[in-house]
Amino acid sequence: MSLLQTGATLVVASHNPGKVREIEELLAPYSFATKGAAELGLAEPEENGATFIDNALIKSRSAAKLSGLPSLADDSGLCVEALNGAPGIYSARWAGPEKDFALAMHRVETELGANPERRAYFVCVLALSLPDGRDETFEGRVYGTLTFPPRGKQGFGYDPIFVPEGGHLTFGEMDPGSKHAISHRAKAFAKFSAALTRPSA
Ligand code: IMP
Repeated sequence: MSLLQTGATLVVASHNPGKVREIEELLAPYSFATKGAAELGLAEPEENGATFIDNALIKSRSAAKLSGLPSLADDSGLCVEALNGAPGIYSARWAGPEKDFALAMHRVETELGANPERRAYFVCVLALSLPDGRDETFEGRVYGTLTFPPRGKQGFGYDPIFVPEGGHLTFGEMDPGSKHAISHRAKAFAKFSAALTRPSA
């Protein structure tokens, strides 16, 4: 039996519209029907884990339990080397209750101050939970540098201050296809995709 049947309905266990859109775009090549957690009226669990993996599993397990359907969650964030990995799992929380990422990006700039060390990376952990209690996680990273002021209106979150390694444009300036070709989420998806085609034990 494979991990997921072709044509299965998969819950995208996120209440973040930017993330649901990207996950649905990345799932487009697979023959799943997708439903967002908000669309199904599922309650949002408290993300009180200590790691990206913990938080991804909290979301995927909660959605699988509430919906009775296979559920895929993403926990992700920006880790800044000079800030000892912050904001990390607190990336969404740095934007405050208004989810104001101009504020979050400004906080990164302020905390860096005059520090010339600008290396950072995005992490994405995908967690797949099945209603029978099985689950699996897949991690991807993309390394790059931070630039200020923010540039570009594509993407979401911290995209306008992140320039991936080897490039000049920020994720906020890149078209979605170019971001998807190299992003942390795409790399986690490549591992997820490999698991889908792997015969399970
Ligand atoms: P959470 O995984 O919902 O807790 O939040 C992750 C947060 O990390 C998002 O709200 C964004 O601020 C940030 N983030 C994750 N992935 C990306 C990305 O691809 N681009 C920009 N920001 C991201």
